[in-house]
Amino acid sequence: MPEDDYDYDELLQRARKDLPDEIADHERFQIPEVESFQEGNTTIVTNFGDISNMIDREQDEILKYLLRELGTAGEKDEGRILFKGKIGSKKIQEKLDDYIGKYVLCSECDRPDTRLVKEGRITILRCDACGAHRPIKGRKKKEKRPSVEKIEEGGIYDLFIQDIGREGDGMARVGSYTIYVTGTTKGDRVKVRIEHVKGTLAFGSVVGKGST
Ligand SMILES: [Zn+2]
Repeated sequence: MPEDDYDYDELLQRARKDLPDEIADHERFQIPEVESFQEGNTTIVTNFGDISNMIDREQDEILKYLLRELGTAGEKDEGRILFKGKIGSKKIQEKLDDYIGKYVLCSECDRPDTRLVKEGRITILRCDACGAHRPIKGRKKKEKRPSVEKIEEGGIYDLFIQDIGREGDGMARVGSYTIYVTGTTKGDRVKVRIEHVKGTLAFGSVVGKGST
């Protein structure tokens, strides 16, 4: 059999399977790896059931998040996800990682032994391993800052930099707007003055620290 029949992922998976369970248990939490393939115009995630078990979150919740973040339609189907369109597994993995960072991992001890608890309108992530808790900062709830619905030139907004754009600028999203902010990096919370708006694209510069 020619060597190039094995791809890197396959080899990696095989190596992981050979690891004894005890060793895996004592390591840092391993983020589950998305296994997917494309069939026609559908992308199928084959191990969604396993992923949901590993991170102990409802399939519906995870799916809702992924659909929103990937901007596509899709449904679950017996432990799999069927996404509309061709989506690379790397991209799905990225969004899953984001979900886990936000809704699963304790920010104090990095363990996944956490629960989501509703306290009034706020959802709290409680860690059973170390007792820490933190609020989940939802993107869709805008009731605290209704003024951010429309981004206007000259306006000042508290922004959370979610990503890095192709040019290396920090990127925030507010409603349908994508806002590029020079000199910021993923995870920053900043106060930004909007210099320019073009359609749903906006460009701004940092004028201070954001309120958290
Ligand atoms: Zn913890």
